[in-house]
Amino acid sequence: MLKLDPFCKLNGRFHLLQSPWSSDARLNALFHVKVPLCLMDVDSLKILWANEPGLTFWQADNASELYARDMAQSLTTAAIPALHNIRRNCHATQSCVSELWTVFPGEQATTAQIGFSPYLTDDNKPVLLLQVIKQHQSRRAESLHTTTALTHTSTMISLYGNDNQLLFSNSASQDALGNRERTLLDRWVNPADIHKIEQALIASESCSIELEVHTVAGIRWHSMSIRRSLNAVSGDTATLVSATDSTEQRNAQQVAYNLAYTDSLTNLPNRAAINIYLDELMAPGEKSQTGFGLFFLDLDRFKAVNDSLGHSVGDQLLIEVALRLTTSAGPDSMVARLGGDEFVMIINRVTDIKILCDLATSVLQCMSEPVELNEQKLRILPSIGICSYPANGNTISELMQNADAAMYLAKANQSGYYFYDETMTRSLSEGIKNRLGLENDLVSALSNNEFELYYQPKISCRTRAVTGAEALLRWNHPTRGMIPPDHFIAIAEETGQIIELGNWVLHEAMKQQRDWHRAGFNLPVSINISARQFKATDLVSNVSEALIRHCCDPVMVELEITESMLLGDTDHVHETLHQLSTMGIKLALDDFGTGYSNLAYLQRYPLDTLKIDKAFLADQKRSMLMGTILNMGKVLGLQVVAEGVETAAQADWLIARGCDYLQGFHFSKPLPVAQATEFFEQNSATRQPPINKAA
Ligand code: C2E
Ligand code: MG
Ligand code: MG
Repeated sequence: MLKLDPFCKLNGRFHLLQSPWSSDARLNALFHVKVPLCLMDVDSLKILWANEPGLTFWQADNASELYARDMAQSLTTAAIPALHNIRRNCHATQSCVSELWTVFPGEQATTAQIGFSPYLTDDNKPVLLLQVIKQHQSRRAESLHTTTALTHTSTMISLYGNDNQLLFSNSASQDALGNRERTLLDRWVNPADIHKIEQALIASESCSIELEVHTVAGIRWHSMSIRRSLNAVSGDTATLVSATDSTEQRNAQQVAYNLAYTDSLTNLPNRAAINIYLDELMAPGEKSQTGFGLFFLDLDRFKAVNDSLGHSVGDQLLIEVALRLTTSAGPDSMVARLGGDEFVMIINRVTDIKILCDLATSVLQCMSEPVELNEQKLRILPSIGICSYPANGNTISELMQNADAAMYLAKANQSGYYFYDETMTRSLSEGIKNRLGLENDLVSALSNNEFELYYQPKISCRTRAVTGAEALLRWNHPTRGMIPPDHFIAIAEETGQIIELGNWVLHEAMKQQRDWHRAGFNLPVSINISARQFKATDLVSNVSEALIRHCCDPVMVELEITESMLLGDTDHVHETLHQLSTMGIKLALDDFGTGYSNLAYLQRYPLDTLKIDKAFLADQKRSMLMGTILNMGKVLGLQVVAEGVETAAQADWLIARGCDYLQGFHFSKPLPVAQATEFFEQNSATRQPPINKAA
C-alpha cells in the first residue's frame, strides 16, 4: 500500500486535517479542484460531498442524487470491509493511502488509482476524502473484458479473504455453490480436506486437487486449482479457487476402475486389485513395518453345487459367501475373490498366529450356518490356508503359494484351516508328485488285477449278529503297498476311470454275494457308488447286467449314495433311484450328516437306509444330534446304520436309542474275503446249508 504524506497537498493547496478552516469552507475551496473528489461516510456508505469532476466520475446527474445513493451498489463486496480498514488506519496514523480500485459508478466497472485521506467533519466524524488520482482508460477496457470473461466462464472462480470469508465469486461459482458457500470451509464435504489443502499451500503457492464439495446439486466432485493470491482491495493475502465439475469424468473413471478391479459377481476386489493392495502394503515404508495376515480360502464341494444345482445357484452361493467373509473379516481387512470359489482375506497389522487362527475359527463358524437357496439349505465351508507377512514370504507370489499350500493340506485333512509352515511346501510337492504317480499307475491297475474288495460286517442291534457287509475298495499297489480308497477314488473320479473301476466293484461285490449265498450266508452286500458313476446314464443298465450275470437277488444288493448326488433334484436323480428301487435294489444314504443334511431328501426319494457318518460318534457335541436323527429315521420308516462304532459304550448307547444296525472297528475292521467269511461263520445268526454249486 502506497503511503502518502499525511499533509499532502491535494492539487497543491490544502492541508486537510490540520486546516483551521471549517469543513464547509474547506470543501468550498476544494470544489473547483479539477480532479474528482468526494467525501465518503464509511459507516452509512453515503457520499457526503463531491466536487464537479467527482459527480462526473460517479456518473451522477446532480449532487443530491449522488448523496442519496447507496454506495454499496457501486462497490464490490470486498471493498466495504477494506474501506473500514482504510478509514481506521488513515485516522490512526494520519496518513493517506493510494490504491488501485475497481468501482461501479454506473453499469460498468471502472478502474482507478484512488487516494484516501482522513477527514474530520465539523461534528468530528472520521470520514474519508477520496481523490481519483488516475482513471485507467486502458485498464477500464481490460477490466470490462475481465468482468465479462468472469461472468461468462463456466469455470467456478471464488476469492476468499485470509479469514476464509468469501470476497468474490463469479456467476458460475454462485450458480453451482449457491448461497451456502460463505466461507472456504463451508465448501468441503470432508473436513480433513482442509488440512490437505493447507499443507499443499504451505509447500507451494498453488495446488491442484480433486475433492468432494457441497453444491446446490448435492455433493459433487470438483477439480480445483487453489492458489495464494492478493485481496486487490485490502492488499491482504487471499485464496483464489478456480474449479470445474469433474463428477462425470470421475464417474466414468470409476466405471473403468470397477471393470478392471472389481469382481462383477460379488463386487469384491478382484485378483488385480488385491495385487495392487498387497504391493502397497509391502512397499518399503511405514505400512510394511506392521505386517499382515493372509487367508487363502477355497470352498469345499462347490463344484458339486455348481454341477448339480446349476450355475445360477452357484453364483448366488458365491455372493452369500462374499457377504459372510466380508462380515467376519472386520473393517480393517480386505476380502477379494481370486476367481471360481477362491477368496483371499488380508488382515491388516495382525501377524500373531493365535489371533489369526481364532479369526479363521470365527470365519468357519460364520460360514457354517446353512444358506437357503431355491428352497434348499446348503452348507458350504471353506478350507483356509493362513500365512503372515513378512514371516512367511517376501513377495506376493511367495505368500500366495504358501497360503495355498496350507489351504491344500487343510482341505486334504478336512481340518478347516492350517497355518503355513515350511514343511508344508515339501509335503505338498511330494503330494503332487505322489498324485501324478498314482494317476499314472491307476491306468494299468485294473488290468493288472491290483484291486481287491474288503468287506466290513454290519451288525444287527436286535440280534447282535452279522446282517450284511459293506464292500470297500483297496488297491494293492505293486510298490506302495495297500492304498486306501480315500487316496485314489477322488483321482479316479477326476480322470473318469471311476466308471470302469466302479463297474468292476459292482460285478465283484455281486459275485461275492452270490458266492456267500451259495456258502450258506445269504447276506446283503452294500456297494458304494461314486458321484460320476451315479451321473452316468448307464448306471441302471450296468447294475442290472451285473445282477443277471452273477444271478444275484436284487434285494441282497444295497447301493450307497451320498447327499451331494441328490442335489439338484433332477429328473435323472428321480428316474435312476426309482428304476433301481423298482428292480428291488436297496438304497442307502451314506455319510449322512457330513453334507447338507437335508431332511427333505429322506422323504422325496425311495431310500431304505440312512447311514449316519462316523463323525457323529467321534464328536461329543454332534453325538447329541444322533438321538434326533435316529428318531427321525424311525418316523420316516428308514433303517438306521451308525458308522464308526469303536467302543462297547458307543454300541450300548446306540442300541438303547433304537439304532437298527452298527458298523465299526468295535465289531470288525473291513476284512479281505477269507477273513470276512470266517467272521460270518462265527457271528451269523442263521447259516443255511450251502447250496450245491452245480445247482
Ligand atoms: P464309507 O462308505 O463311509 O465307508 C466307511 C469308512 O469308514 C471305511 O473307510 C471304513 O474303513 C471306515 N470305518 C469303518 N468303521 C470305522 C471305525 O470304527 N472307525 C473309523 N475311524 N473308521 C471306520 P475306507 O474303507 O477307507 O473307505 C473310505 C471311503 O471310500 C468310503 O467311505 C467310501 O466313501 C469310499 N469307498 C470305499 N470303497 C469304495 C468303492 O468301491 N467305490 C466308491 N465309489 N467309493 C468307495
Ligand atoms: Mg459307504
Ligand atoms: Mg459312510
